[in-house]
Amino acid sequence: MPIYTLPDLPYDYSALEPYISGRTMQLHHDKHHQAYVTGANTALEQLQEARDKGDFANVNKLEKDLAFNLGGHINHSVFWKNMSPDGGGKPEGELAAAIDEYFGSFDKFTAHFTATALGVQGSGWAMLAWDQIAARPVVFQLFDQQGNVPAGVTPLLQLDVWEHAYYLDYQNVRADYVRAFWHVVNWQDVSDRFAKVTA
Ligand code: MN
Repeated sequence: MPIYTLPDLPYDYSALEPYISGRTMQLHHDKHHQAYVTGANTALEQLQEARDKGDFANVNKLEKDLAFNLGGHINHSVFWKNMSPDGGGKPEGELAAAIDEYFGSFDKFTAHFTATALGVQGSGWAMLAWDQIAARPVVFQLFDQQGNVPAGVTPLLQLDVWEHAYYLDYQNVRADYVRAFWHVVNWQDVSDRFAKVTA
């Protein structure tokens, strides 16, 4: 029995058009996200085999495979819900207040997050996450699917800036993709995540 399974998209493939095409969403969800799910399950199975055999010769590879693929599964599971055909606009309530408090204003936050996304070298993500120790939101660049973000933070808003996320629609112009993203951000979902971590 596989441990991880591919979640359904919470909307149709083409629901985010014209900002993200149905073709991109279909490939991204059905092929890319599925590959991370499969890879995470395979890594767990192979670690089970290693324990059973008492042979940990490949443990470094398997742990890297697990982190990469489970990272991919988690990141995309958050990302799909972070978007909505009814998205865009601005956050409200306590999330809006926290963004004002910790980033100065909504505009300063979006400028920071946008620059973070545009600056990712190679494949990765921009992420707004909750730091449990300081009890505050922080913006990170996440490299590949698992690098450069400390353990112990909880994702609130993630933007995939791997080329597979935008190349069919925007080719090399990542800035246009990031600009489009703000039109589909599901602030209700981000607020729900914020409410859970601050409860
Ligand atoms: Mn992706």
